[in-house]
Amino acid sequence: MKNSIAAIDHYIHGHVVANTSGRTQDVFNPATGALTGRTGLADVDQVSAAVAAAQAAFPKWADTPPIRRARVMFKFLELLNQHRDELAHLITAEHGKVFTDAQGEVTRGIDIVEFACGIPQLLKGDFTEQVSTGIDNWTIRQPLGVVAGITPFNFPVMVPMWMFPVAIAAGNTFVLKPSPTDPSPSLRIAELLKEAGLPDGVFNVVQGDKVAVDALLTHPDVKAVSFVGSTPIANYIYETGARHGKRVQALGGAKNHMVVMPDADIDQAVDALIGAGYGSAGERCMAISVAVLVGDVADKLIPKLVERTKTLKVLDGENLDAEMGPIVTKAAHERIRGYIDLGEQEGAKLLVDGRGFDGKQAGEGCEGGFWLGGTLFDHVTPEMRIYKEEIFGPVLGCVRVKDLAEAVDLINAHEFGNGVACFTRDGNVAREFGRRIQVGMVGINVPIPVPMAWQGFGGWKRSLFGDMHAYGEEGVRFYTKQKSIMQRWPESIGKGAEFVMPTAK
Ligand code: NAD
Repeated sequence: MKNSIAAIDHYIHGHVVANTSGRTQDVFNPATGALTGRTGLADVDQVSAAVAAAQAAFPKWADTPPIRRARVMFKFLELLNQHRDELAHLITAEHGKVFTDAQGEVTRGIDIVEFACGIPQLLKGDFTEQVSTGIDNWTIRQPLGVVAGITPFNFPVMVPMWMFPVAIAAGNTFVLKPSPTDPSPSLRIAELLKEAGLPDGVFNVVQGDKVAVDALLTHPDVKAVSFVGSTPIANYIYETGARHGKRVQALGGAKNHMVVMPDADIDQAVDALIGAGYGSAGERCMAISVAVLVGDVADKLIPKLVERTKTLKVLDGENLDAEMGPIVTKAAHERIRGYIDLGEQEGAKLLVDGRGFDGKQAGEGCEGGFWLGGTLFDHVTPEMRIYKEEIFGPVLGCVRVKDLAEAVDLINAHEFGNGVACFTRDGNVAREFGRRIQVGMVGINVPIPVPMAWQGFGGWKRSLFGDMHAYGEEGVRFYTKQKSIMQRWPESIGKGAEFVMPTAK
């Protein structure tokens, strides 16, 4: 009998390379629970081979004029637009998110490629004529060398695209270590880059787990590491990478609040909470997981929220009517169920319980999938673990506060500071909120304020370790180093050695 379990391998120097470590991880379709693939888990030698391929490709790629690097990006952009739905289906098959949401993910990745197409403009340096008599001074930005990206399961296309388009366009070569939970899109991306004309070795993929990550973090030829994932791992990546002399940006977990002021449009706020709380089954680092209900707004809003949570269309992601798909893995499903049990024990009021959701309702063949319904708690308080910890599932908690000041203090005291939103009609409240809140990405009447490609993405506090946000101009700075060149010509050089600190003459 033919074995239909696909082997998901590495991509090194322009070719798919079979795994040699002897270690693999099973890959599932979360909607059905079926085993669909087996991804290789690279050992140190295979990581070294990928870094060596990237290191060998670097000098020529770095020397390629930026306009020619941009042309490869333009071609890649064209191919991504042609293959957008194919990539979205690959996402849904291994992640479970609904197909239309997966299309949105690919589009937000494409945005970054469009940004990277402008690299000749972005790399322009500055120039000052006559900093001293006969002397000019200018700065340029040059690529770092081999850079690595380590990415999470929840955006297998978009998050790698926060990194490699900018890194590669800037003249670096890249090694991607995707999540082993949904590794297939990374290989399709590699093929499309090759088809776009990217030279072999400029973009490589190693599938793997901690072994591969540690090999990248300690490899002397890896100059910078971009990481996106949970906070404990982000912290580890930052410390370990820095100890090994690398530039590191490590984006971590989140607990995003949405404040609803008494003057907000209630129906708009309910729509926002439903979409941002349960979209992608709450498995987004910008998902809203806490509704902060100010004054008497809870009594007006909660009945509507209950109704909408109960009637969410939880279906197989390939069904175009689906609003929410399954949970990514069995382990994540158990973790989230555990948090719902805990919320009850801690004394929060469980208004809608997703634990009873039966996969049969999600579609044919879904009875073995990792299904949960939308879950809603009221009277969550700041001491509860379901408030403090990232649940990363379709569980929304409501906290009641008396006024804006209490809402701001609550949010500012939280360990995480990724995204936040405030729904209000009052311009002064909006302004004060934006100024006082200790969170990196703020939405005013926008529940998921993910910045556009040219603005850069990053949280505050324990949601980001490092100094620079992902993509945008911060991304260009992260993947390049500044060099200052000062120049004069023999005609303007005076006679004799100078022993005093040079100053402008
Ligand atoms: P994760 O931290 O488990 O894994 C992220 C990456 O780290 C994966 O490539 C994984 O293989 C690797 N990894 C896991 N354990 C490791 C270890 N012990 N040592 C070295 N590497 C290890 O995260 P996840 O479950 O894949 O993704 C969900 C998390 O990512 C959530 O916490 C979410 O908030 C966060 N996230 C954050 C952002 C952001 O921009 N801040 C964006 C997306 C996801």
